[in-house]
Formats: sequence, C-alpha cells, structure tokens
Amino acid sequence: SDTARDDYDLVVVGGGPSGSTVATLVAMQGHRVLLLEKETFPRYQIGESLLPSTVHGICRLLGVTDELKAAAFMVKRGGTFRWGRNEQPWTFAFGISSRMSGDAATAYQVERMKFDQILLDNARRKGVEVREQVSVLDVVEHEGRVIGVRATGPDGAAQEIRARWVVDASGHKSRIHRRVGGPRHYSDYFRNLALFAYFEGGRRLPAPNQGNILAAAFKSGWFWYIPLTDTLTSVGVVLHSDALERAQGDREAALAELIAECPLIAEFLADAKRVTTGPYGEIRIRKDWSYLKDEFTRPGMMLVGDAACFIDPVFSSGVHLATLSALLAARTINTCLAGDVDEQQCLTEFETRYRREYRLFHDFLVAFYDTHEDEDSYFWKAKKVSDNRTASAQESFVELVGGVASSENALIASAATPRRRDADARDLAAVVDTAVEIAGEDRDLLRTSMMRGVLREGVRVQTQAVTGGNTDEQIPVRDGGLVPSPDGMHWSWPAGGAAT
Ligand code: FAD
Repeated sequence: SDTARDDYDLVVVGGGPSGSTVATLVAMQGHRVLLLEKETFPRYQIGESLLPSTVHGICRLLGVTDELKAAAFMVKRGGTFRWGRNEQPWTFAFGISSRMSGDAATAYQVERMKFDQILLDNARRKGVEVREQVSVLDVVEHEGRVIGVRATGPDGAAQEIRARWVVDASGHKSRIHRRVGGPRHYSDYFRNLALFAYFEGGRRLPAPNQGNILAAAFKSGWFWYIPLTDTLTSVGVVLHSDALERAQGDREAALAELIAECPLIAEFLADAKRVTTGPYGEIRIRKDWSYLKDEFTRPGMMLVGDAACFIDPVFSSGVHLATLSALLAARTINTCLAGDVDEQQCLTEFETRYRREYRLFHDFLVAFYDTHEDEDSYFWKAKKVSDNRTASAQESFVELVGGVASSENALIASAATPRRRDADARDLAAVVDTAVEIAGEDRDLLRTSMMRGVLREGVRVQTQAVTGGNTDEQIPVRDGGLVPSPDGMHWSWPAGGAAT
C-alpha cells in the first residue's frame, strides 16, 4: 500500500469528551477529521460532576453553551465537604474567585449519556465525520511515525485508515496507548477502588447549595453524593484497594453496609430507593484508576484524556483534564497542519502544559488525602502548589478545584464582559454551522481549500474575541516555549521569542 496516502488530516479514537473536543476544534479550522467510536451513543460513563473551566471555557469554544442550558442540567455552585479534622461539613463556592463570577461561577452535574451525546452531535455538526460501532485495533506505523489506524466496523471487516495525525482519546480502556512510550505507571498513593450506584429520592442540601457535590470522608474511605436531577442522585464510595474483597462479593450488601458506616450519607439517603432498572440500575466497580504515562506523544500521535493519565476523582478533575488536553492537542495539530512551527516544539508544548495541570491536581490531592488537617491547611496547600502570589489561600483552593488555576484564558469566561463573550461564542458557532450547512453532506466540498479558508478566517476572528488574547497567557510556561496564538487555536512564538 502506498504510504503517502492521506485519507484525513486527523483520526480521533474515542467519542467521549476528550475525543469530541479535539475533533471539533480541529474541524472548526476546516481540516478533515474522522472520529471512530466503539459504542453506539448514548452510552453509560461515570464522571458526572463538571468544573466551571469545562462549562464556561471549553464548552463555550465548542459552541454548545445554549444546548447545555436547554438540557437543564443541575447547576453546581461549589462543593460541600465533610473532610479532615472538622466534624462539621464546610462549603466552598466558585463565586469567591475573581476568575469566576456571575454565571461563570457555576458548573453542571451531568448525566454523561446526555452530555457526551451533545458534544458528539456538535462535532458532527461542525464537520467531523463520526462513525460509531467502529473499534480501533491498532495504529499503522511507517518509519517510526504513526500514519493511521486499523479498525473493524459493525460488519467485522478490518480496514486501514490513513491520517496525518492520530489522537488516542479512547479512555481508561485504551488499547493503543501502548504505542506511545512505555506502560502506564499506577500511583502507589491512590490505589483505590470505587463502588457506585444511583438513588431516587435522596435529600438535598439547603438552597442555594442544592446542586453542590457532597463529599463525605469516613473510616473506610469517602463518599460522593452528586445530585443529577431534583430526585436522582449518583452515589459512590471510594475505598482503598485492600477492600476489594469486601466490595466484590454481594455488592448490594456491601454498599448498604458502607452507607450505614457514614452517618451523613445515611441521613441523606434515609428516604431514598436505589434505582434497579435501566442504565442506572447496576452497582458498578472501578479499580486502580490513578495512572500516568511516561510519554504522551510521538511523531504523528498524541494521547489525551484518560488514555494518557487519570487521578483520583475527589475534585472532579477528570473531564477538565480530558477537555483541556484536547484543546492543547488541537492547538498542536492546527499549528502543524498549517506548517507554522516545528512539530517537535508543538508536541513538547502540549505535553508540558498537560503534565503541569496533572501535577497541580496530583500534588494537591496528596495533601488533601491527609484527612487529619482542617480546611484552612488544605487552602494553604492549594496556594503553595498553585504558586499564585496574589490570591488568598481560599481563592487559590477554589481556583484549583474550579479548574482555572492555570494561566489559560480559554478556560475563563471573562468576568468583565460576559454578555459580549456569550454573543461572540454564538457567532463563532454560527459561522461554522453555516459553512457546514452550505457544504451539506458534501464532504468533498468541505475539504476544498476555499471552504477551509472561509471556516478558518471566521473562526479566527471570532475566537480571538471570545478568548480575549493578551494578559498572562502570553508568558511561556517553559524556557523557549510557545504561547497560544491570539485566536487560541494554535501555538505561536511569544513576542520577541524564537522564530521558526
Ligand atoms: P471516556 O469518557 O472514557 O471516552 C472514551 C471513549 O472511547 C468511550 O466512549 C469508548 O467507548 C471509546 N473507545 C474505547 N476504546 C475504543 C476503541 N478501541 N475504538 C474506538 N473507540 C473506543 N470526572 C469528572 O470530571 N467528574 C467526576 O465527578 C468524576 N468522577 C469519577 C468517578 C470515578 C469512580 C471514576 C473512575 C472517574 C471519574 N471521573 C470524573 C473521570 C471521568 O470518568 C473521565 O476522566 C472522563 O470520562 C474521561 O473522558 P475521555 O473522553 O478521556 O474518556
């Protein structure tokens, strides 16, 4: 077969939040993107508590703000924790940070079947070719570079698809992450397992905190209690992996016993009934889920989301890391396809920034798992790991757990001009929707350079308005490093920095 053949600019493996995000942000620049998803959506997934950075940063760039509003997900203003030395639950609100205010000081608790479907449908609408029921088996390599994937469709026939870039967004079950670097390194510190289920009729915190995530530590571990609707609650318990035997036998009995051990959760579930039918009817287990790859990239390929790394879920950082890494990967691909900056520089920029955000959460979590402290000492630890000189300790904590501790402007909805930004985001989405509509189902037309040019220019102008540009994100995070371009969708050299 000829190695020069390119079917697509990008093939994305997996249609979860990381896959939809990277696919959409590359397609919005007019490139040819194919996304392959093993399942048929909607499919079940855990990870329901989102951060403001995802809702007001990434989802705004994707142009799904109105759709999320229409889906009427539970609004989350912060978290309530029974944790550490303090016997009384304490509450934090995203709103105390100046980086999140008004509407932007909230996030959503989402049913992932609905949320992931919204992102995947949006990807289609923005020009991504999405194929479900296609399972990727392996990557195709040529002279050390990844040049495509091998996959099987619903008919079981194997096919080879060539692309200039492959992104592995296939989550914790990824089989192709092995093609990048060595094996996953599992954390000794977070060797945990989770047992989780759904309840109808659980209690709610008093307003305005009824949508908060509630986390309650107790002798054997900690519970999450996530209100998904007025009546439906996601309840899970995180235990040290020593407890595997206890959780694995009779799950129903084990869960009931653990709830009884934790007075706060027992009280909230006093009048509740476990859901026993449909996708929420199962009591599920996940174990050993904190890991990190020693490499995230190689020529032609990047790992994003859970395919690359994952940390303990106590601060709901999973979808945040997944969608942030997808944005960073999209910048790298957009820049390389445009031929603007050397590929290795772009790959290093992606990996450096992704690891930096991972490390922030990881280091903070290690301190947070020391449950013998009080909340003030956790706030100070957040300030220390974030290295933020101007914020108070409590603000540092809230910014870290809100996902806006980094200098990524793209993750913050501007406090000063929220209306303008919302309008810009709608315009941006409309430009792309219109272009895709004009092209209709005619994929060839979408691929013409004229159409790509129209898309790229419209998106450039609009994203620039949305992301704001300038300020602290123009400072590289490593020596000789790159910064986001003014449109937020590429990398560029900082003013006065190295030239290509
Ligand atoms: P996924 O959402 O896993 O999507 C990967 C997709 O790839 C899937 O649709 C899968 O079908 C597809 N796929 C897999 N293999 C193939 C293949 N070979 N070919 C084609 N397609 C394939 N995160 C939060 O933000 N908030 C939370 O409250 C939270 N709670 C959590 C609680 C627990 C117990 C756990 C374990 C995780 C939690 N998470 C939470 C993390 C969250 O689940 C993940 O971080 C997030 O789903 C990662 O998104 P992703 O797109 O990388 O992967």
